[in-house]
Amino acid sequence: MTFLAQRPMPYCRGCGHGLVARRLDEALGRLGLDPGRVVLTTDIGCVGLVDPLFPAVHTVHTIHGRSTAVAAGAVLADALCAEGGLTNIVMLGDGGATIGLLHLTQAALMNVDLTVLLHNNMLFGMTGGQHSALTPEGFATSTTLEGNWVPALDMEQILRGSHGGFFARQLATDRELADVIAEAIAFPGFALVEILELCTGFGVPLNELDGKALRATAEAEGKQFGVRIRRADRRPYHALYRERFPVRAAGPPPATRAAPARAFAHRLTRALGVIVAGSAGERVQTAAAVLAQAAVLSGLCCVQKNDYPVTVGSGFSLSEVKLAPEPILYTGIDAADAVLIASADGLREVKGRRDLERLAPAGVVIVDASLAGELPPGRALAAPLRSTLTADTAALGAVALLVARTGVLERDALLAAVDALGGKDAGALRAAVERGSTLTG
Ligand code: SF4
Repeated sequence: MTFLAQRPMPYCRGCGHGLVARRLDEALGRLGLDPGRVVLTTDIGCVGLVDPLFPAVHTVHTIHGRSTAVAAGAVLADALCAEGGLTNIVMLGDGGATIGLLHLTQAALMNVDLTVLLHNNMLFGMTGGQHSALTPEGFATSTTLEGNWVPALDMEQILRGSHGGFFARQLATDRELADVIAEAIAFPGFALVEILELCTGFGVPLNELDGKALRATAEAEGKQFGVRIRRADRRPYHALYRERFPVRAAGPPPATRAAPARAFAHRLTRALGVIVAGSAGERVQTAAAVLAQAAVLSGLCCVQKNDYPVTVGSGFSLSEVKLAPEPILYTGIDAADAVLIASADGLREVKGRRDLERLAPAGVVIVDASLAGELPPGRALAAPLRSTLTADTAALGAVALLVARTGVLERDALLAAVDALGGKDAGALRAAVERGSTLTG
């Protein structure tokens, strides 16, 4: 069967890309693959025009240089999360290979079961014939008209250094190209076929170039043709992964999964959004985690999201916790039901995010007493969080105070959550819950 559409090639007359497409078609036919189980991933450049030529297979057209990464993700998702069995092929050119070089090496290192067909015409064709990292010394391009004076990358050496399982170098005109592509596709691991070809739009007019000269140019650089690497000692990444993480018996789908065991009562009838804000290093996210864990112990569904600046150990620390009696399909908090502010850093961040302006109509604000003057009168419950507790437990004290005032959860659920989370300072956290529950504004 043919996989190739009966339509004109979208390339310049004589462009090597058309030859490669035909040889790929032959290889797929020889392997007897089901087109519905083949995925062809491309990116930018003339090579990327190949998608419509293979209408019966799945095609993914992604951003420049990322085709190998996208395809590697598809391979692993298929092998580890679905039934497996898809055949994944990447078709890229000089740009895709060099912009995405680390993706290629990473896929080779991991031995992702993927075949990459690198169309090496030694320049960037689509953008005007500029030189690339694959342009040989002496080769003229639109940006190296006198001849390139920088040596070209050697993909074979790169593959060797990346422990790649299979590497072959061929000319697009080689009779055996279809066989080599078929062998690469059948190889159980990462396979790269570098196909040297002519860009008749730029490479040929700027150089004395034909197929023979192309081979001679590569050989002058010390490059050799044929299958150069074929390693049987490496297993594909997904097989190693599965060995380390065996598949467990599938459970029921999420929608019908039994609710977590309910050890404590709650009074929630709708979703509740809580923002806990304070300073980095002052256990703000631990306070949020205690609230989230207590919610789970009370049979609720829960989502916690944390935020902090890149400096990690300075500035603000903030958590959003959403609790609900039903599965949470939207995890955002558009209008918080409670904003807990344990420090000046937290107040600045909450103001910057406009959480107070967006507070729900019956929303609660609990703020450390030292900051009360920075909020409009009557707006917040000011409690001596930092002076009664410690800086490290002020946020948890605010959580305990919220729970005590609203009654949405039991205080004992917070204590059980502290125990469940464990840690060497569980005693101090328990004390903070007990003390925070009794605070008054
Ligand atoms: S510009 Fe070069 S690479 Fe692009 S289609 Fe034309 S010949 Fe092929």
